[in-house]
Amino acid sequence: MTQKLVIIGAGMASGRVIEQLLDADPSAYDITLFNAEPRGNYNRIMLSPVLSGDKTYEDIVTHSDDWYEQNGVTCRFGEHVVKFDRELKVVEGENGHVPYDKLIIATGSAPFIIPVPGHDLPGVITYRDLDDTNAMIEAAAKGGKAVVIGGGLLGLEAAAGLSERGMDVTVLHLMGHLMERQLDEAAGYLLREDLEARGITVKTQASTKAILGEGRAGAVLLESGETLGADLVVMAVGIRPETRLANDAHLTVARGIEVNAQMQTSDPDIYAVGECVEFDGHLFGLVAPLYDQAKVLADSLLDQPNAFAVKELATKLKVTGCDLFSAGDFAEGDGREDIVFRDPARGIYKRLVIEDDRLVGAVMYGDTADGSWFFGLIQGGTDISRMRETLIFGPAFQGGASADPLSAVAALPPEAEICGCNGVCKGQITSAIEGGATDLGAIRAQTKASASCGTCTGLVEQLLSVTLGDDYAVPQAQPVCGCTSHTHEDVRRLIKSQELKSQAAVWQELGWTTPNGCHVCRPAVNYYLLADWPLEYRDDPQSRFVNERKHANIQKDGTFSVVPRMWGGITTPDELRAIADAADKYDVPTVKVTGGQRIDLLGVKGEDLPGIWSDLNRAGLVSGHAYSKGLRTVKTCVGTDHCRFGTQDSTGLGIKLEQHLWGSWTPHKLKLAVSGCPRNCAEATCKDIGVVCVDSGYEIHVGGAAGMEIKGTELLCKVESEDEAIEVISAMTQIYRENAKYLDRIYKWLAKVGLDWIKEQIVDDLENRKALADRFTLSQSIYRKDPWAEHAQDSTTRVQYAPLANLTLEAAE
Ligand SMILES: Cc1cc2nc3c(=O)[nH]c(=O)nc-3n(C[C@H](O)[C@H](O)[C@H](O)COP(=O)(O)OP(=O)(O)OC[C@H]3O[C@@H](n4cnc5c(N)ncnc54)[C@H](O)[C@@H]3O)c2cc1C
Ligand code: SF4
Repeated sequence: MTQKLVIIGAGMASGRVIEQLLDADPSAYDITLFNAEPRGNYNRIMLSPVLSGDKTYEDIVTHSDDWYEQNGVTCRFGEHVVKFDRELKVVEGENGHVPYDKLIIATGSAPFIIPVPGHDLPGVITYRDLDDTNAMIEAAAKGGKAVVIGGGLLGLEAAAGLSERGMDVTVLHLMGHLMERQLDEAAGYLLREDLEARGITVKTQASTKAILGEGRAGAVLLESGETLGADLVVMAVGIRPETRLANDAHLTVARGIEVNAQMQTSDPDIYAVGECVEFDGHLFGLVAPLYDQAKVLADSLLDQPNAFAVKELATKLKVTGCDLFSAGDFAEGDGREDIVFRDPARGIYKRLVIEDDRLVGAVMYGDTADGSWFFGLIQGGTDISRMRETLIFGPAFQGGASADPLSAVAALPPEAEICGCNGVCKGQITSAIEGGATDLGAIRAQTKASASCGTCTGLVEQLLSVTLGDDYAVPQAQPVCGCTSHTHEDVRRLIKSQELKSQAAVWQELGWTTPNGCHVCRPAVNYYLLADWPLEYRDDPQSRFVNERKHANIQKDGTFSVVPRMWGGITTPDELRAIADAADKYDVPTVKVTGGQRIDLLGVKGEDLPGIWSDLNRAGLVSGHAYSKGLRTVKTCVGTDHCRFGTQDSTGLGIKLEQHLWGSWTPHKLKLAVSGCPRNCAEATCKDIGVVCVDSGYEIHVGGAAGMEIKGTELLCKVESEDEAIEVISAMTQIYRENAKYLDRIYKWLAKVGLDWIKEQIVDDLENRKALADRFTLSQSIYRKDPWAEHAQDSTTRVQYAPLANLTLEAAE
């Protein structure tokens, strides 16, 4: 006898189940199909082309009314199922009951709504079905501003569609880069560039606080305090499996409705399929696995053996002009190796992640033509060891006789463009080489290749190498590290000239060969960015050396040293008492006076750091930054206050300088001193910057060293007033900050640029001096913070100083 099959939900998953069932055995079941939406199955993933105007609803209908009728499916569209009774085996719709022998729950997902104030105002919508899409089309017809909350797949497709329909669109994304689940930072950066180029504003790390409006959404308020006008607010922040009916019926439900490999729920007569299910801990949000589930479920209903298994997935975004592809797992990890290809001129980024000679992940942007081939390698677990060197170039380069890494360059046709900036192709460069241009300088001079942004330098060098063989002498200038062929000087220059304001921009636009740099280049690039773009770039603590991350020097026994700042070497009995109390309270084994005129508490346990910092903070003491590439101390002598030789108030000037300069990041540590007369008791002439007071004013000296190398300073200039001294020293610090190579002390950098150049910039050119000093002050307004206060008070960061314990953290939803 034909059995009664009732299906709740006429979406993409159940649509495929019905097709499979009808194909295999049309008479096996008498099917009743409920759907809350007043229509049958349509291709939900094509709602985005409907929104952008590229398609109509009619174009995306999968099963028409006629199709259901011809196949004998009883449709109850526009009718919610309210509950089902497992004892009586009856499904209760809004308009009446239907008995079942077998039941399929295919209720999909419900969009998640952030419960901020105003989330339920008219004008706030989600993006899930045709009604939502029509509501957006209607809103866009009036023009105005749209704010899309969520920079994932759905949010970006909504943003692109609304923008296409003429709205002024802003996308808010909580994380640091767009589509962070599918893309790494580098690809996220390129995606953002493309969206911005089409007029969409993207704000990352943007957290929504409330939706404002009287009777209707009118604006979105961010946690940062910023308010964005919004005639339409689209929430696309994620989905939750729609499990309410299953919960009410006491089926086993975790995050989704739990099913076995035959798609059977905890009740053997009830199956579930699609986004509402959870299988083996996995949830689903793309159609490919749902179609696999549908096939298995149809087989199960017909007693055919089959089992569902989770497979790797690939993602694409359906926004014209944003070509991205992502598949597999691309997290960094031990034993994993990255192969990266970048073509900055064409906005192309490709990254392959390899583990145990197998491709485990691929991310691509700009050129995704080989995506399916890479996806096949991931799914097949293919051993790629024999094609490793040329893998990134795709299938076209496999199977050749040579696995030489230069072979790809050698194989490029003469008309292949090498230098995008100057439009120089391979043939022009090889002709120049054959005509006698045997180094990079000569190629630049003759062809202009690599002479502009410099990102094709690596390719030009490879061409030199391929063409000249052993006759090619590798250039002397050392690159920053193995991730790039650029020198520090190049990187600094290009960050400024190309206005690169994020790490991702540097990696991409300068053609880094690794996804996110390494322990050598990251601290340097982080420094260059914060020095050049204080307003736009935010310091990345993960790109700092461990002492700077911990805000304390790690000692050889694993304990830490804590050094409070003593302005100009001056302290008070109260400060000394607080230091003594802290030393007692935290069992500090060694208290030492430093060469920089302050007190070092040595041997502090890591877990005591936040406590000792907050005790010292309470006494008005802040971090002395004794660990940082930044201002350390301003050493002073007693000067006119107490010394009969003193010519000026050296202590007072030292304190003013330290209060102005503290908290600034510099390429390397920065030590200053102010001596009250040429007897130089503060040893100012072996510091990075030293002031020697004289009767007629202040001599400013620069470029001393008293470490591994000993070097006396050189006289930069003499000024008459304290204010002038402070301005010159600020300008000197800033010109060093803006130009030196990371980890060069002033004396090393000075040897490269010459004192005459510095004099031209800040002694002769008063306007430039002032501009430099102003830029320093601006940077200080953002970066001068006491890290002790920040970390001692913040309970989340306190955790990082706690001793390691065996804690099992639950993954946040
Ligand atoms: C705009 C958009 C773009 C997308 N793009 C892609 C893409 O590019 N690639 C990709 O792989 N995936 C994409 N997806 C995801 C894909 O559409 C889903 O994975 C797929 O539709 C899920 O199928 P489903 O059958 O589980 O649920 P759905 O297709 O959502 O169907 C569930 C149906 O159940 C109905 N229902 C729920 N509760 C009840 C009830 N109590 N009574 C009656 N009916 C009920 C709902 O009304 C709905 O019609 C996109 C999704 C959207 C919204
Ligand atoms: S440097 Fe000159 S002013 Fe300063 S303490 Fe020494 S002698 Fe005195």
